[in-house]
Amino acid sequence: MIDVSLVIPVLNEEGTLKTLTDKILTVLRSENLQGEIYFINDGSTDQTPEILDTLVKDIEQVSVIHFRRNKGKAAALQAGFRQVKGRYVITMDGDLQDDPEEIPRLLAKLKEGWDMVSGWKKVRHDPLSKTLPSKLFNKTTSLLTGIRIHDFNCGLKAYRKEVVQSISLYGELHRYIPVLAKMEGFRVTEIPVTHHPRTSGKSKYGAGRMFKGFFDLITVLFLARFTLRPMHFFGMLGLLSVIVGVGVEVWVLILKYAYHEPFQTHVAMLLFGILLLILGIQLVSMGLIGEMLVYQFRKNKGKSGGDDDTG
Ligand code: UDP
Ligand code: MG
Repeated sequence: MIDVSLVIPVLNEEGTLKTLTDKILTVLRSENLQGEIYFINDGSTDQTPEILDTLVKDIEQVSVIHFRRNKGKAAALQAGFRQVKGRYVITMDGDLQDDPEEIPRLLAKLKEGWDMVSGWKKVRHDPLSKTLPSKLFNKTTSLLTGIRIHDFNCGLKAYRKEVVQSISLYGELHRYIPVLAKMEGFRVTEIPVTHHPRTSGKSKYGAGRMFKGFFDLITVLFLARFTLRPMHFFGMLGLLSVIVGVGVEVWVLILKYAYHEPFQTHVAMLLFGILLLILGIQLVSMGLIGEMLVYQFRKNKGKSGGDDDTG
C-alpha cells in the first residue's frame, strides 16, 4: 500500500537528481510514509538518462519513464499520472528549487479535506525577467477564471489520486492544473512554500514560453464554459450576426423605396448585410456540429462506464 507517489519531470537536470532523491527518501522515512518516485525524463541530452537508470537499479522506490524526445512538462506529468499507485500524488521540479521538506505540510493540508494543494512561491528566487511575466500571468489567469490563488504554475503541488486521474494534460496545460481541477469540481487551495535559487543546470522557461501558454488558457476557458452547450455560444453569435445582417438589408430597402436611393449607391452596405447573413448561418452550423460532438462524446463516455458529471 503506497501512501504517496512523487512525479518529477526532468529535462537535463543531471546535477541534482541524486541529491533530490536522497532528500525525498529522508523525508519519507522520517514521516513513516510508503512512497514511490517517478522520474519522467523528458528527452534529456545530458547524463540525466544514465543517472536515472542507475537510481532505478539501486533504489527500490524509484522508477523512470524515458521520452525519446522532448514532449514538454505537461506531457511528462501526464505520463507519470498514468502510473501512480499512491493515495496521494505530489509533483515537484527536478532542479531542487522546490524543497522536499514541504511534503509533510502539503499532505497535512490534503488531510484537512482539500483535493488539491498548490504551492505558492511567495518569496521567489528567480530573475526579474521570469518573475514579472509570471506575476502578470497569474493575475490574468486568476481574474479570468475566478480562482483566487497566487501561483498557478508552481511545480510543487499535492493531489488526491482521483484528481490526477480526472484531468488530461498536454501542450502547456500544466500551467492550469488548478483550473482544470476546479472545473472537475475538486476543492483547490494553496500554501506558501519555500523556493530556492537554481544552483545547477539552466531554466527551460523564458517569457516566450509563458506567453505561448495563453492560447491554452483560452482553450481552458472555452472548455470550462461552453463544452456542454457549444450551440448556445456559437448560436448566440450567429443569431446576432443574422439579426444585424437582416437589419442592414432592411435599411437598404427603406433607402430605396422610401427615399428613392437606388441600390447601386449602397452596394457596399448590401454586400455587408449579405456577409453577415452568411457568417450567421456558418456560426449556427458550427454550434450544431459542436453540439453533435458533445452528444457523441457523452454517449461514448456513458458506454465506457466513465462518470458523467455533466448531469
Ligand atoms: N522540464 C521538463 N520538460 C521541459 C521543460 C522543463 O520536464 O520541456 C522540467 C525541468 O527539468 C524541471 C521542471 O520541468 O524539473 C521545471 O523547469 P524549470 O526549472 O526550467 O522551470 P523554472 O523553475 O525556471 O520555471
Ligand atoms: Mg526551476
